Amino acid sequence: MHPELEKMKKEDNIFTIPLAGLPFGHTDYQYVIDDKFFEERDYSEVKKGVVNLHLGVEKMETMFVLTLKFDGKVVLQCDRCGDDYEQALANSAEVYLKYGAEKGDEDEDVIIITKNDSEFDLSDLIYEYIILSLPIHRTHDDESLCNQEVLAKLHNFSQSEAENEEEEETPWKQMMKDLKNRIDK
Ligand SMILES: [Zn+2]
Repeated sequence: MHPELEKMKKEDNIFTIPLAGLPFGHTDYQYVIDDKFFEERDYSEVKKGVVNLHLGVEKMETMFVLTLKFDGKVVLQCDRCGDDYEQALANSAEVYLKYGAEKGDEDEDVIIITKNDSEFDLSDLIYEYIILSLPIHRTHDDESLCNQEVLAKLHNFSQSEAENEEEEETPWKQMMKDLKNRIDK
């Protein structure tokens, strides 16, 4: 194991790259991102998962080129039935840490660091790329894998909705319907 990696493992945040301490050239890191990573983020819609991350760091005179490759599975809530399901994911990204006068994001993939930065915390970036790799429609692969009981209930509900619509609409009825819809969500 690389001595820097050895050292990082002992620290709380293993996703911190020791910018100053790294030798010039290429260094590889291998991480396994697990439930703890997601649980630490209260705002995370992903609560569980196992994601392998391969990180390559190329240290040069004026910048660092980071290559991130993810693959794994996370647990998400199905949009169709509401049950949890496992979503496979794979993604790769290239990020540049460039030395500049002032810290900041130049654009999506270019982050400006200063010569005073001796390390760089990657964890937010890693989280962002995992979320970015998730599909917009989050459902079980096939409807047959969904919670059939819930689907049946939803089906019955939308049928009685349709029947109700034949009755005369009053503002009061409309309001109750809206309310019902909101509660069911
Ligand atoms: Zn489902």
